Amino acid sequence: MKLVLLGAPGAGKGTQAQILSEKLGVPMISTGNILRAAVKNETPVGLRAKAYMDSGELVPDEVIIGIMRERMAEPDCAGGYILDGMPRTITQAEALDTGGVEVETALTIEISDEEIIARMSGRRVCPDCGETYHTVYEPPDKPGVCDKCGRALTIRRDDEPETVKNRLKVYHAETEPLKDFYAARGKLLTVENRDGIAETTKIIFEALGI
Ligand code: AMP
Repeated sequence: MKLVLLGAPGAGKGTQAQILSEKLGVPMISTGNILRAAVKNETPVGLRAKAYMDSGELVPDEVIIGIMRERMAEPDCAGGYILDGMPRTITQAEALDTGGVEVETALTIEISDEEIIARMSGRRVCPDCGETYHTVYEPPDKPGVCDKCGRALTIRRDDEPETVKNRLKVYHAETEPLKDFYAARGKLLTVENRDGIAETTKIIFEALGI
């Protein structure tokens, strides 16, 4: 199974990718998570990516393509994977093609910009283990504290309202055209976001026939 998840930032791709990864027994590859770890560890890639991420811009294609090539070469990817947050540009999608990666399905989770803005304002993340929460939809047991490691939760810098607006602009300009790219290849599946994680998972499973 080689599955690409598309959708606006905050559509729930990461959450659903994790659920799908467990269900299908293949790894989830999130370029956002890989980049955040690189920023935290101050690696050369992290140092290069930080300013783009903080302002809601896309990290240059060649950086992303390098990260993906490296990650996909690891042994756990032999049976397939779920790509969360990549490709985000036509150039990245073409790089998958030329790299011999045959995407089977691109699934897009559709959601309005207004809902994204409302949602992102409640998103919280653990600065230690990276676990994500939502003050309304997925609250931790104790408000403001990570269930897994007990650290105080933070707001991702790129979830600040002005940055979210820029990320949505970038999404519509750069990433949304991928829907046509995959539709033209007969690979696009579209699901409408539902209220609640489980409800959205249900329609995704139905769309994928799993
Ligand atoms: P995400 O967690 O997927 O929303 O990604 C957070 C940020 O990382 C994005 O706003 C971009 O700055 C950067 N990023 C993640 N994946 C990509 C990608 N495939 N192409 C370019 N930039 C990316």
